[in-house]
Amino acid sequence: MTEGASAHSSGPFEVAIAGGGFTGRALALALAKLAPKGFAIALVDAETPRADPQPGSAPPKQDARALALSAATKNLLSVLGVWPALEEGAQPIASIEITDSPLHAELRPHFLGFEDVLGADEPGAYLVEYGALYRALEEAVARAGGIAIFAPDSVTDYSTNAFAVTTALASGGVLTARLLVAADGRNSKLRERAGIKCVSWSYPQVGIVTTVAHTKPHHGRAVQHFLPAGPFAMLPLTGNRSSIVWTEEKERGAEIMALDEAGFTAELATRFGAKLGEIKLAGPRQSFPLALQIARSFVADRLALIGDAAHVVHPLAGQGLNIGMRDVAALAEIIVEDARLGLDVGSPMGLERYQRWRRFDSAFSAAVMDGLNRLFSNDAAPLRVLRDLGLGLVDRAPAVKRFLVREAAGATGSVPRLLIGERL
Ligand SMILES: Cc1cc2nc3c(=O)[nH]c(=O)nc-3n(C[C@H](O)[C@H](O)[C@H](O)COP(=O)(O)OP(=O)(O)OC[C@H]3O[C@@H](n4cnc5c(N)ncnc54)[C@H](O)[C@@H]3O)c2cc1C
Repeated sequence: MTEGASAHSSGPFEVAIAGGGFTGRALALALAKLAPKGFAIALVDAETPRADPQPGSAPPKQDARALALSAATKNLLSVLGVWPALEEGAQPIASIEITDSPLHAELRPHFLGFEDVLGADEPGAYLVEYGALYRALEEAVARAGGIAIFAPDSVTDYSTNAFAVTTALASGGVLTARLLVAADGRNSKLRERAGIKCVSWSYPQVGIVTTVAHTKPHHGRAVQHFLPAGPFAMLPLTGNRSSIVWTEEKERGAEIMALDEAGFTAELATRFGAKLGEIKLAGPRQSFPLALQIARSFVADRLALIGDAAHVVHPLAGQGLNIGMRDVAALAEIIVEDARLGLDVGSPMGLERYQRWRRFDSAFSAAVMDGLNRLFSNDAAPLRVLRDLGLGLVDRAPAVKRFLVREAAGATGSVPRLLIGERL
């Protein structure tokens, strides 16, 4: 089924977006709301859409993840009118604690806390469930109008000339546009088709994700517990619930995933500790392969990459989607400005501006996440002493902590206007 438009030779559109995940939908919405009247947008997504997404209806697919959204991502979602639907179920992070100790240590000494630098009036981040964010964006796109949706369908190929990009769909349809945006995820076909290589490596780790209910309240405290196999994060959700992102060595991860519920819960409880009382599973469990991947270029002729198509980072600091939303905000700002001036939105100048704005920032974030994972996923005694010393020093340096919090909140560097809550 193709929703909203005939699949055969459609267009011309100004922008065609391949991929209706979080970043693809957020960009479509930003353009529909902020670009000049009559700006034609196409969104192609491989997922089957629900016939009529209604407020409060069930999400289309189950995903065990919860996402830590930075204050900057919240600002973007507010300008796009999505945040009100998420607010009630979003858990503000009131404090962050980092501990570093072996698995069976009785005590987990606190090395780094951010209570003293987190703003009292505006939390730096919020935890939101995957399905809730998916549903809110899907509903907002349906409400916005002006977006021709082709789903379920997928982009299989494209070609360009001096004026346009022509996109082939699996259904046999063809779309023409000024600019094609690849928001098609980590295995992006469009990136491959454009011949863009990636700097990438796989971690010998998996990320196990689930939700637990506990008997004591978390008071909005997020805990990152660095264990020898990798970070174990306990992230507060609304009510007495926490989302778990548990990094394990690949083989051990597969063994843990194969355990029955009692065995899995027992392994989880060893790592979770006793601070929040008794725990029980309160959601599905899921395991993700972990990789670092940065596209060598974020642009090609009439093509821009956003989100996981451009970069995949280790989930230890919950930044992957936040970095993707920075792409969305930067690209939307450039496209809207060019469209208002009547310029070609697929021109090399606009694309080069996007590349300069986003590529260094994404590579820097990926490198920081990679460095932290290497430093902490290791039980060698000298490294342990070094990092504990380092964390202790950072704990006593409020200026460094303030920088880290501002970085996590997406408030450092050259920030696109949508991320500070300004309409374009
Ligand atoms: C364990 C784990 C925990 C995480 N936690 C966090 C967190 O706390 N905070 C955070 O910011 N990030 C987090 N992330 C990262 C975050 O989940 C991703 O960065 C984000 O989901 C990527 O969104 P996207 O829209 O770029 O891609 P995707 O969500 O992968 O969407 C791609 C879409 O494109 C469609 N598609 C694919 N190919 C085609 C095609 N050829 N044509 C048309 N459509 C196509 C797919 O069907 C899909 O709908 C986490 C990741 C993991 C693995």
